[in-house]
Amino acid sequence: MGSMAVNGENGHKSLTDYAANKNNGVDCTSVAARGNYPVCDENYGYNVLRCSDEEWRVRVDLAAAFRLCHKYGFNEGINNHLTAEVPGHKDRFLVYPFGLLWNEVTASNLLLVDMEGKVISGHGQPEATAFWIHSRLHNLRPNTGAVFHTHQPEISSLACLEGFRLPMIHQNSLRFFNDIAYDDYNGLVLDDNEGRHLAEVLGDKRILLHYSHGIMVCTETVAEAFDAMYYLEQAARVTVKALSTGQKLKIVDDKVAKQFKDIMDSGPGKEYARLHLEALKRDLLKGPDKDFIC
Ligand SMILES: [Zn+2]
Repeated sequence: MGSMAVNGENGHKSLTDYAANKNNGVDCTSVAARGNYPVCDENYGYNVLRCSDEEWRVRVDLAAAFRLCHKYGFNEGINNHLTAEVPGHKDRFLVYPFGLLWNEVTASNLLLVDMEGKVISGHGQPEATAFWIHSRLHNLRPNTGAVFHTHQPEISSLACLEGFRLPMIHQNSLRFFNDIAYDDYNGLVLDDNEGRHLAEVLGDKRILLHYSHGIMVCTETVAEAFDAMYYLEQAARVTVKALSTGQKLKIVDDKVAKQFKDIMDSGPGKEYARLHLEALKRDLLKGPDKDFIC
């Protein structure tokens, strides 16, 4: 009955009907798989790892976020990192095995690691800076189920400007009203000091703009992290174009900006983010990235 349900009703194909790739010899979408593996639900394929439903759902969403970042050019080579907690487990998180291209990440090849860096399940190792920074942010920040870090080009170019602050010039910018912390780059990190420092700098804000480097996004869910990352890049793109004219920027009044942000934070933002990721997953399942769900 839900208006956003994508299932066999009304003649629509389910999401999993679109996916046909195989993983580790398992066809995630076949009738045989349906019989042999617990079915998570139609929007999340088949839980081939037999982990908890909660973990499988986060795995699928996180794998989708990796593919989307790859598709949109948000990542660089085999670097940058997206991590997510399994709901209810503050002592572990999912991270990709270092060395994979982001369009090789799948729900089942993500690593589950503990807060000391021990791999609980999966093959491979997390990248060291990813582990140190992300483990501390997951650990120290409240309501942080997802921590995304990229050098996505538009906002990273603005992070190279002395004293830059994202100007409230467009509706997309207003999503980040009073929600961005700013910090200087301190070099590569191979211990937990920088993670602790970044958690302090972030405070209750969701976004950290790291000068001369990139961004961190810390949110409750994977969908919210991807949505924030996407719209931050859109806001940055408009800002770069507006700045390039050399004309004076027209700044939205603080009261209007705050009202917009308050409305988004009061509930719609979370639901829009979920629907956004669901829509993008449907799109992925129609193309070359459809095996993310396996
Ligand atoms: Zn980086």
